[in-house]
Amino acid sequence: MTGRPSTGSTSVHRTTPQTTPAAEPAPAQPGAGFDTDVLVVGAGPTGMLLAGDLAAAGVGVTLLERRPHERSNITRAFGVHARTLELLDARGLADELVRHGTPITGLRLFRRLSLDLSRLPSRFPFLLITPQYEVEKLLERRALAAGVDFRYGTELTGLELSGSSVIARVTDPTGTRTTLRARYVVGTDGVRSAVREAIGLPFPGVSVIRSIVLADVKLTEEPPGLLRVNGVGDAFAFIAPFGDGWYRVMGWNRGRQVADDEPVGLDEVRDIARRALGTDFGMHDARWISRFHSDERQAPSYRKGRVFLAGDAAHVHSPAGGQGMNTGLQDAANLSWKLASVVLGRAPDPETLLDSYESERHPVGAAVLRSSGAIVRLAMARTPFQRAARSLAAAFLSAVRPASAKAMGMISGIGISYGAPRGAHRLIGRRAPDLRLAEGRLYELLREGEFVLVSAPGSEPDVPPAPGRVIRAHWTTDRRTALLVRPDGYIAWASGAGTPR
Ligand SMILES: Cc1cc2nc3c(=O)[nH]c(=O)nc-3n(C[C@H](O)[C@H](O)[C@H](O)COP(=O)(O)OP(=O)(O)OC[C@H]3O[C@@H](n4cnc5c(N)ncnc54)[C@H](O)[C@@H]3O)c2cc1C
Repeated sequence: MTGRPSTGSTSVHRTTPQTTPAAEPAPAQPGAGFDTDVLVVGAGPTGMLLAGDLAAAGVGVTLLERRPHERSNITRAFGVHARTLELLDARGLADELVRHGTPITGLRLFRRLSLDLSRLPSRFPFLLITPQYEVEKLLERRALAAGVDFRYGTELTGLELSGSSVIARVTDPTGTRTTLRARYVVGTDGVRSAVREAIGLPFPGVSVIRSIVLADVKLTEEPPGLLRVNGVGDAFAFIAPFGDGWYRVMGWNRGRQVADDEPVGLDEVRDIARRALGTDFGMHDARWISRFHSDERQAPSYRKGRVFLAGDAAHVHSPAGGQGMNTGLQDAANLSWKLASVVLGRAPDPETLLDSYESERHPVGAAVLRSSGAIVRLAMARTPFQRAARSLAAAFLSAVRPASAKAMGMISGIGISYGAPRGAHRLIGRRAPDLRLAEGRLYELLREGEFVLVSAPGSEPDVPPAPGRVIRAHWTTDRRTALLVRPDGYIAWASGAGTPR
């Protein structure tokens, strides 16, 4: 936590954890002169998680979405990583999602690299294969229950920033132009973000790979239950089961580099799969086929005054590693409690707390660009030397446990931690695991959206005040370490020795 703690914090003592977030049936009333406290632009996964968190905390939220209200059954993302499932668990949403998805515990990359996700130190030691629209359905339901004012068919066209508010220009579903005045605006409006453009931030980067083909198909021959990726110099392919009989196939052929709008048929996908995986598994009945290119771009800053960027509006990269939606949801979880603290007047140093969103999440975005870029470049390795280097790297990662643990920590998000001030306790900034406490699991206690202070029964640690309410919880053992866990599950403050397990 980089924000200086509040002097007016409140402690909430609970003996039984509440397992659902406090639902507000109607939007919270914004302050005088404002149409809303926070205007969130873009109802993709990032925007809906953020808006739901803010509304559950009692902040007035309006969520604009350019599209009309209809969800398609076409999915971009299809994998939810362990850290994202933990964040959803802290909102009471993970178990339902897991029930409808397919957990995959093994990743097999480039024939020689096997990653065993079942070793992840998490309640969710797997990659959950589930369509993006299932995640969106859950987040939309929660946001509506919490009182978010959804405005579908409404497009943001411009912003005017001042010291005390932001005025958004919008076009409503009837084509009428109007304005909305908000305290803060968050752009979760995807790669071509109108918010990013309105605040004049560039989106520098490069196009990494062109002409990737994607197909959701049925197969006559069932592949072994692993997610597989392989590259053979001039082609690579990837295949993963949705768990309901459908499979996602992605492939690339160096010999056929064409524009995104060039038609793609199932024969082209079959041909790539045969080259890269040795078989096309008898693919048939494609429900979606598409061709796309992939960029690596990141906004140099995630904040300008009262306006923030999160999700694809802030960073975009290749789908390798399945990180885009996951990173956006983690951005939202980092920003939501900070913004709620500030809007609700609980943060004594609002600017520092709000700045910590960028200082924590920008480096994570940059690391995701690097790791997903490395996977895609390894997949495209062409020369015998490059392919030998890839085999060596794969063999090393498979054989050396700390190296594979680090790779899995990065891909799953479990290994992400935030910087702490020099000389700080070594646990500060680290992810708090789902501790078993006298009052229940930590991630159940976090469903309140508040800080959780964990300490020995009967002890009263001298904790710096937090910018929010604090739930008191206790170890079930004689451990002496005291921890203050932020609402997003990272350790804000610690004292005493020991590592939480
Ligand atoms: C083929 C493919 C496979 C992928 N696989 C994975 C995967 O396995 N795992 C993973 O984590 N990620 C994956 N991704 C990436 C993932 O889909 C995105 O990262 C994710 O959708 C980003 O979410 P978001 O909410 O930030 O933005 P988006 O989902 O793009 O949502 C932005 C929303 O803003 C709305 N909007 C835009 N402009 C305006 C405006 N001016 N006014 C109002 N509304 C506006 C849009 O209509 C849209 O609904 C994949 C992407 C692709 C292309």
